[in-house]
Amino acid sequence: MSRSQQLFERAQQYIPGGVNSPVRAFRSVGGTPRFFAVGTGARVTDADGRSYLDYVGSWGPLILGHAHPAVIAAVQQAAANGLSFGAPTESEVEMAELLCSLLPSLEMVRLVSSGTEATMSAIRLARGFTGRDLLIKFEGCYHGHSDSLLVKAGSGLLTLGNPSSGGVPADVARHTLVLDYNDSGQLEAAFAEHGAAIAAVIVEAVAGNMNLIAPRSGFLQTMRELCSRHGAVLIFDEVMTGFRVGPRGAQGLYDMTPDLTTLGKVIGGGMPVGAFGGRREIMASIAPLGPVYQAGTLSGNPVAVAAGLATLKLLQADGFYDALAQGARSLTEGLVAVARKHGVPFSAQSIGGMFGLYFRAQCPQTYAEVMESDQPAFRRFFHAMLDTGHYFAPSAFEAGFVSAAHSTADIAATVAAADAVFSNW
Ligand SMILES: *Cc1c(COP(=O)(O)O)cnc(C)c1O
Repeated sequence: MSRSQQLFERAQQYIPGGVNSPVRAFRSVGGTPRFFAVGTGARVTDADGRSYLDYVGSWGPLILGHAHPAVIAAVQQAAANGLSFGAPTESEVEMAELLCSLLPSLEMVRLVSSGTEATMSAIRLARGFTGRDLLIKFEGCYHGHSDSLLVKAGSGLLTLGNPSSGGVPADVARHTLVLDYNDSGQLEAAFAEHGAAIAAVIVEAVAGNMNLIAPRSGFLQTMRELCSRHGAVLIFDEVMTGFRVGPRGAQGLYDMTPDLTTLGKVIGGGMPVGAFGGRREIMASIAPLGPVYQAGTLSGNPVAVAAGLATLKLLQADGFYDALAQGARSLTEGLVAVARKHGVPFSAQSIGGMFGLYFRAQCPQTYAEVMESDQPAFRRFFHAMLDTGHYFAPSAFEAGFVSAAHSTADIAATVAAADAVFSNW
């Protein structure tokens, strides 16, 4: 029995499903999750000493690869000065200044410890600011696991949502309306019917939690226009896309100005940091300035912030994002070429340092299309690649990530491994 198997058996005795976050359990691909021991650059080593090229990157944060020396040094130095104070520190001010200078839509920002906290707080803020309750989200977008967001569409197009998780009160879910991503017509209908009650629209401007789906032209602009016209707060959830799809996130890529933005993942560089920020007028509703309560014992934690700051500073290097995007593009173009050579129905695309792989002929544009992809084919691909030392996300519905540590040779090796896998398809 492998060491990962042994650890997984032990884990299941005391941790539900053996994991501290469900997708790690490999349920959708089958088999035993790999327990990791060491990460360096683009590679991870599992508990059995096997090495893998890592295309998960801790689900997005590790844009510089594992254990970047400058990030580790910053963490060590911060840790030596004390792990937490529960009082303000200089590094938080520096982080807030940097985030507001990098994202023009941010006039003020508050730090939290996870993406879930950031979106949950941004929604409460939007509701408090507007004095309205109704929230619009899109099927297939994930915004963390707070009650208002674990909601699926009701029975009719504009009927209010139902809980998508046990433990979420139906009374909470009915304040969320779930629409189809990339469907501007539905948005228009929703605002026509409920406009005066809508507190906020929350969206992943590039959707990365139903594999990768790009916004259709006009979708984000329609959303912006409707929110402005009806006095609703537009929240871009950039927990994944922030500083990942480009230097200004998805809002920079599509030239959009949301009212609020949520951040996480990359801004912590592998440590727990989230943030929400935006228009000063809205942010002024947060306690202690305003009536909307939000707090955190470890918010702005100096060790976590040190990792985030060190990461964000390295992203400012000239040409960083061009090189990152080039890496992701050569991966997806290479995989598409070898799939085509062997007649495998497969498509792929990248946006900045994110990519999507789909076992279907064309890249999907909607949740329904992504759900039509061939899941058994993905499972085969996943395990075949894992066996050759390539760690992709263990689900057909997750985006992948390339880091700055992935070399041209790493990506070529991955494409060559896929070539071999597809040749026996
Ligand atoms: C990961 C993610 C979250 C949740 O962040 P956590 O840190 O896991 O709580 C929220 N929104 C998006 C878009 C994400 O990708």
